[in-house]
Amino acid sequence: MASAPVADETAASGADVRYVYRFGGGVSDGGKGDRNLLGGKGANLAEMASIGLPVPPGFTISTAMCGRYYAEGQRFPESLKAEVADGIAHIEGITGKRFGDAADPLLVSVRSGARASMPGMMDTVLNLGLNDETVAGLATASGDARFAWDSYRRFIHMYSDVVLGLDHGAFEEALEIAKEDKGFTLDTELSAADWEALVGQYKVIVEEQWGKPFPQDVHEQLWGAVGAVFGSWQSERAKVYRRLNDIPGDWGTAVNVQAMVFGNMGDTSATGVAFTRDPATGERAYYGEFLINAQGEDVVAGIRTPQYLTRAAREAAGARLASMEEAMPEVYAELAKVFDLLETHYRDMQDIEFTVQQGTLWMLQTRSGKRTAKAALKIAVDMAEEGLITQEEAVARVDPAALDQLLHPTLDPDAPRDVVAKGLPASPGAASGIAIFDADTAEKRAELGHAVILVRVETSPEDIHGMHAAKGILTARGGMTSHAAVVARGMGRPCVSGVGSLAIDAGARLFRVGGREVKEGETITIDGSTGELMIGEVATVEPELAGDFGTLMVWADKVRRLKVRANAETPKDCQTARSFGAEGVGLCRTEHMFFDAGRITAVRQMILAEDEKGRRAALAKLLPEQRSDFAEIFEIMAGLPVTIRLLDPPLHEFLPHAEEEFEEVAEAAGVGVEALKRRAAELHEFNPMLGHRGCRLGVTYPEIYEMQARAIFEAAIEVAEKTGEAPIPEVMVPLVATRRELELMKAVIDAAAEAVFAEKGRRLEYLVGTMIELPRAALKAGEIAELAEFFSFGTNDLTQTTLGVSRDDAGRFLTAYVDKGIYAKDPFVSLDVEGVGELIRIGAERGRKTREKLKLGICGEHGGDPASIAFCEATGLDYVSASPYRVPIARLAAAQAALKQG
Ligand code: PEP
Ligand code: MG
Repeated sequence: MASAPVADETAASGADVRYVYRFGGGVSDGGKGDRNLLGGKGANLAEMASIGLPVPPGFTISTAMCGRYYAEGQRFPESLKAEVADGIAHIEGITGKRFGDAADPLLVSVRSGARASMPGMMDTVLNLGLNDETVAGLATASGDARFAWDSYRRFIHMYSDVVLGLDHGAFEEALEIAKEDKGFTLDTELSAADWEALVGQYKVIVEEQWGKPFPQDVHEQLWGAVGAVFGSWQSERAKVYRRLNDIPGDWGTAVNVQAMVFGNMGDTSATGVAFTRDPATGERAYYGEFLINAQGEDVVAGIRTPQYLTRAAREAAGARLASMEEAMPEVYAELAKVFDLLETHYRDMQDIEFTVQQGTLWMLQTRSGKRTAKAALKIAVDMAEEGLITQEEAVARVDPAALDQLLHPTLDPDAPRDVVAKGLPASPGAASGIAIFDADTAEKRAELGHAVILVRVETSPEDIHGMHAAKGILTARGGMTSHAAVVARGMGRPCVSGVGSLAIDAGARLFRVGGREVKEGETITIDGSTGELMIGEVATVEPELAGDFGTLMVWADKVRRLKVRANAETPKDCQTARSFGAEGVGLCRTEHMFFDAGRITAVRQMILAEDEKGRRAALAKLLPEQRSDFAEIFEIMAGLPVTIRLLDPPLHEFLPHAEEEFEEVAEAAGVGVEALKRRAAELHEFNPMLGHRGCRLGVTYPEIYEMQARAIFEAAIEVAEKTGEAPIPEVMVPLVATRRELELMKAVIDAAAEAVFAEKGRRLEYLVGTMIELPRAALKAGEIAELAEFFSFGTNDLTQTTLGVSRDDAGRFLTAYVDKGIYAKDPFVSLDVEGVGELIRIGAERGRKTREKLKLGICGEHGGDPASIAFCEATGLDYVSASPYRVPIARLAAAQAALKQG
């Protein structure tokens, strides 16, 4: 017997730790399934077995072994051998077949299964246990020689690819040539003898490429496959997938070894995948695909176009081939019962793999199904209304980040569109972009800022980075459960799959469809909700919070404690924010208003002025403009708080940079080109982020803040008089480090307020507060709170200054930092809770010690990040402020954080 590569084992190295858990035939060592230990697939197999569903017997080698396997230099401990042997004996006992038996061999599948599902990212080996002897036994025992030889050629191909790492193109080529020689087009036309001949060729390919014959020892095969599946945890594509989905590298995968059942044993056999509800729309209807006389990988690989599960779906699609409901009514009825049982048991929509072997149904997998955001909302709301889950559970179920999919524009139904083909509506949403034919180019072009549509015959797991970089995915082949469709739905990318009329010529970098030709780089549009492919760009419309989305938001708001505001400075942003339920403006960055074409000249005159008098003259021109900006915002946000931040960026940002701009600007600003260049050179800073910016501008040129404060108060009074509803402005000073800075700035603001109140004969309530963006400010929060009536944590700058990492330059090295586990996530996206978070906690505590009612918020990008929002809830902040399109995400995340907090 060949043995596993084993590590030296001492008694202390954990020989008594159990790694193998059996299931099936009334046994379920894993009980009701511990996902962390058994992985998702193993846990659910154990659980299905424990509730009496028909699961082929098998065993799971736990995720703990994955860690140990790597820790010991990719070797297995000696103790595992006996455990695996017990596991095989368990399968043999139930099936009555023996592993490696020449007369009636047991065949097994070896599959990965991590704690979080990683569809298609890791390896699988099927039909393991076949060799030159057992194939004959299988032929005799099954009475089907064609099936036996077909299974053997599949096994050699898969094993050579996955375990031996041989080039799988050579196997495909041999098959194509075999078919061509016979004049066949379909695999199903090949006879037993044809497959047997092909097996002979496959073995030659193995020996040529590998230098050794294909392994005939079934135990060697088994250990090879187990090692390969554990090994695939560290494959590049698995690592990319983990990074994109925040799955920690130390979780590891489990390995499931299970008796094979065959969907390819004739016309009473089939294999399929199904969802208990529609994963694209959430509709309560069984949804899925199956193939008669086929093995599982045929469905997922998109090689044959599968048939529908239900008659209704077949009719809706106008398909010809019978649905499972029609072709196999009895098994279908049994399957439908299993669906209902699983949904009630797991209280969630399930994604299921099944096989029918000569009329007998076997369940191979169940897991919570991946779904689009739209489906997630509908399923959560429906299940709460059906009484299957509570409203709070419904709120907890929907991934806030996934809502992003629904918060983007969709195609304008009234806009003209040049539809050239229709495929399957595989993942909803619409996208326009340039057509690109490979994943690497897609990634490169996306980095250059292009919207990209990735166009492929079919996608494979190697395309994952390109799919992520793309705005949408278009494929010529593949069904609704093809790799492209499943991954696109998971990522929230629109996808149109299976456009049969699409002829892609990847070599010439173009595709032809409906008599038209589209070259790489030309713009196309896809609508993943209708399956339409259009040439050119199509106009879009803004999303709304209606239907299930609106309902779930109402439920979320019932449990939410944190208020949610928006970062907004234009009237359009403010309107969007309000329509999405923002409860105020948490950050209005006034400098954005300075870039307006009509004002930039006055801004430049102010910067170029030689003295205060010159500056004041330029500021006087800006005052009415700022006043009308603020008035508009106050009106839109009537009755809600509005935090306006005084000027923050270094002044040189407003000056021209390119040579040709200088002349134009000099003329507009009424100064000489040389003077302008001299002034620009004077303003040059080596490190502008730590330079003359924030309240340092107000300290040196108080007249700038004076003008802005005056504009705020004049606008507030104007709106109060016009609408009868007085806004409460919150005036915010940026980049404060010391109490004294705030003292000086507050004096300027208060003086402007008093002056305006005296002029208008009317007073207004207002607050003066500060951003906390520097570690010193967080540490001295106790003193600063003597003057500040609110703090808003500017976590973009606070992250930059705490980590000493430039927010504008971090892109070059942060990915490596995340890959190497230095930071779990990009700290500019998700708050570094340990470091920056500690400063926020200190700032909040010290501030509130001085001023009990101090209002606390966050307005960095983290305000829209669910994990950071959970931190804000736990730290007792009053509100988070996020960009307008993230407001609904923040509302849901805040509700979930409150539920977790209890
Ligand atoms: C911050 O620093 O977090 C912030 C909100 O300000 P800005 O991004 O404008 O620097
Ligand atoms: Mg800042």
